[in-house]
Amino acid sequence: MPRNTVAKINLEALRHNYRLACERAGGAQAMAVVKADGYGHGIAAVTQALATEAGCFAVACLEEALAIRAQGLTHPVVLLQGVHARKDLAVCLQEGFEPVLHSQSQIDWLMADAVRPMIWLKVNTGMNRLGFSPGEFAAVMASLRPMQGIVKGLMTHFACADDTASDATQLQTNVFRDIAGAYPDCVRSVGNSAAHFRDNQALFEWSRPGIMLYGASPMLGASGSELGLRPVMKLESELIAVRTLAAGESVGYGESWTADKPTPMGIVAIGYGDGYPRHAGTGTPAWVGGRRIRLIGRVSMDMLAVDLSDVPTAQVGDRVELWGDHVGVDEVAACAGTIGYELLTGVTARVPRLYSE
Ligand SMILES: *Cc1c(COP(=O)(O)O)cnc(C)c1O
Repeated sequence: MPRNTVAKINLEALRHNYRLACERAGGAQAMAVVKADGYGHGIAAVTQALATEAGCFAVACLEEALAIRAQGLTHPVVLLQGVHARKDLAVCLQEGFEPVLHSQSQIDWLMADAVRPMIWLKVNTGMNRLGFSPGEFAAVMASLRPMQGIVKGLMTHFACADDTASDATQLQTNVFRDIAGAYPDCVRSVGNSAAHFRDNQALFEWSRPGIMLYGASPMLGASGSELGLRPVMKLESELIAVRTLAAGESVGYGESWTADKPTPMGIVAIGYGDGYPRHAGTGTPAWVGGRRIRLIGRVSMDMLAVDLSDVPTAQVGDRVELWGDHVGVDEVAACAGTIGYELLTGVTARVPRLYSE
């Protein structure tokens, strides 16, 4: 018998979230971002579930794009980091992948070969990770003019779209709009998930929702459910031991938590070896027996401890939700000093994904 530790994936919730992205994208189409194995949900199932609704997928790299083709799906796939080797351009042409070129060395590979996939160009409007600066952009476009029509789209990426108090997104949008204005034949794409929740944000022709598809919040200070999103992953395990600690007894490595009164507690069969964050300390919420409970002590590789004071009838075999419908992944992330993105993408291969419609 396998362990009862699973990530249940609700594909209907995924489609609900995708439709919300489409609604919030105004006139833009939404390319579904499915990098990092569909944010940990399984790229095969995620792309199949969205296949009839999404007109385009976006991934970080070629391997991920090939995983979509392995499903028999023929959608355009945008490669958000362009290509990582010259020979990959031929694969892009053959497979219908659209690399987002961001550097002169990628342009040089394009020039060197007769291979001409559809490309996007990345403009650096302030994120300062990838892309051509506004000052050099016209020269790059001019150098590509002999390859008529090769540039399908222009793209930029926001640094602070999650923060409604920051004006960086407006400034980046203005810079991008000015640059793109000179190339009316190119489609434009600026918006990550957070941009869908900003008032009056221009999303142009294509938006790029990622985290919101999976139900976690892209916004500072708002939960996924407050934004109308439904959690797609429910991370579940079960109690494999229960005992009552006497006052003065501790649980787990380092004896980092000690009972100050007799305390019923349980051991759950999940730990950082499954991707549950070790930095989630005492007080991190979980859900058992219809109630919110809290973690106590340190998370181990294969186990963690919970305080069962509020559910004294809990017993071995009871299901425990680590995150999902009752405990938001973002809440757990906040307790661990990180974001929902990291927790969802970090669920390890040891945890089976169970899919439901
Ligand atoms: C990952 C990524 C996205 C999606 O971002 P979310 O915050 O998950 O919506 C969009 N655009 C680019 C370039 C990305 O790398």
